[in-house]
Amino acid sequence: MGFLPYGVSCGIICLVIEMKKIDSKQVLITGGAGFLGSHLCARLLAGGHEVVCVDNFFTGSKANLADCLGNPRFELIRHDITFPLYVEVDEIYNLACPASPVHYQYDPVQTTKTSVHGAINMLGLARRIKAPILQASTSEVYGDPEVHPQREDYWGHVNPIGIRSCYDEGKRCAETLFFDYSRQHGMSVKVARIFNTYGPRMLPDDGRVVSNFIVQALQNQPITIYGNGTQTRSFCYVDDLIDGFLALMGSPEGYTGPVNLGNPTEFSIKELALMIIEETGSSSTLVNRPLPGDDPVRRCPDITRAREDLGWEPGVPLRQGLKKTIHYFDRLLSGQESFG
Ligand code: NAD
Ligand code: UDP
Repeated sequence: MGFLPYGVSCGIICLVIEMKKIDSKQVLITGGAGFLGSHLCARLLAGGHEVVCVDNFFTGSKANLADCLGNPRFELIRHDITFPLYVEVDEIYNLACPASPVHYQYDPVQTTKTSVHGAINMLGLARRIKAPILQASTSEVYGDPEVHPQREDYWGHVNPIGIRSCYDEGKRCAETLFFDYSRQHGMSVKVARIFNTYGPRMLPDDGRVVSNFIVQALQNQPITIYGNGTQTRSFCYVDDLIDGFLALMGSPEGYTGPVNLGNPTEFSIKELALMIIEETGSSSTLVNRPLPGDDPVRRCPDITRAREDLGWEPGVPLRQGLKKTIHYFDRLLSGQESFG
């Protein structure tokens, strides 16, 4: 711009800055200190946005946000979403809720409150400030499915009174609230049904299968297979999932979903254990433990809707994602990485 008169070049720079400001949004992420939330915070900051992260630190931690905390565009608020919240933002991602069975069953009443009261509070906020709101729903809304793979028009097979019900039914009721707020108040809502997602920043004592198996393998301890290990899951690497969140939030006004976000390649739990042993070079053996109540037998998403409507599909194969996750846990267990 050296050849332009000073005033003109200043004008152009101001215009570019102004345009950047217009693109940059203020985004609220509830549950932002958790596994998925912390990755979403980092990605939005990297995209030039301002992030307000709200968390009660039940399963999340400040350590997960170590890279975000020094950023002037990042704000952290300790808050429980079962209580009302008043902030002004352009978009809301509602992720707050423990996702591991061990954690959501620890205080099941609080889990339902987080899903239901939390949804009401965040939807009320979104309505007041006229912001689009994305709900982190779950494949658990399909329960122990009788159809396979699961499409979004399948209504599910859910036990309303079992030990997983606080989470499954809480998330189902949250979906109901999202669609009723949309119909009743003309709000912009977007519902993602997330299938098992894994990656760095899962807690080592989280209880979920990928973190459990990797930690056990790295310590050469027996790998605990619940049941006979023939039950299946499909595992999505966290970076792919975050791409899916952004694609859904960026979808046209009026597009609500629900939309499955997950990796459609299905593995048995025993196959997962053997792959982790191979990738870690571990001497761990496999041991069988009792299968927890209501544990779904098969789970695999049909992602046709995400492919067609959002142009999204996961790109990281399980083995590749496991390598990155193993690297993270290896550093964590040897003290080179911190956690909360
Ligand atoms: P996580 O447990 O790591 O994160 C949840 C976060 O929410 C934590 O930081 C926790 O402290 C916070 N939180 C819990 N209750 C809260 C409350 N009442 N108020 C404020 N903060 C609260 O779990 P995750 O894996 O990051 O899951 C994030 C969201 O995605 C959850 O809603 C979960 O149901 C959904 N989901 C995740 C998966 C997965 O495989 N990771 C699968 C399906 C759905
Ligand atoms: N699982 C297992 N050993 C473990 C932890 C989990 O065999 O140490 C099984 C669990 O019974 C389930 C599957 O792995 O069949 C996935 O469990 P996770 O808790 O990760 O997620 P979800 O059941 O919610 O899909």
